[in-house]
Amino acid sequence: MYTDSIRRVASTRLPTRWGVFNALAFERELSNGSGRLETALAIMLGDPASHELTRGAPLLRIHAQCLTGEMFRSLRCDCGDQLDMAMREIAHEARGLVIYEHQEGRGIGLIAKLQA
Ligand SMILES: [Zn+2]
Repeated sequence: MYTDSIRRVASTRLPTRWGVFNALAFERELSNGSGRLETALAIMLGDPASHELTRGAPLLRIHAQCLTGEMFRSLRCDCGDQLDMAMREIAHEARGLVIYEHQEGRGIGLIAKLQA
């Protein structure tokens, strides 16, 4: 269960090898009384909300953080390659966004993932 209020807590230019994206960070409080925050990043290029008929829907990738795959290039998954591909395709179309969920291993945590 979540509270309704999602706050935008950061907005910045993010130069990458694929171009200059806009990085937006959002957070919301878990409504279970723990006081913990859930955060998410949106990495955008161009104007994903524009409704030019000729362009169709923007590219969108929802990507769950994978430190072992993205940083250490573990061969146990292809998360790093998939994120690279998404960024490259978005750059190619000059429009799109990546929603980046930075809870390692969909919330199980990095240590638990390594133990598995
Ligand atoms: Zn992975």
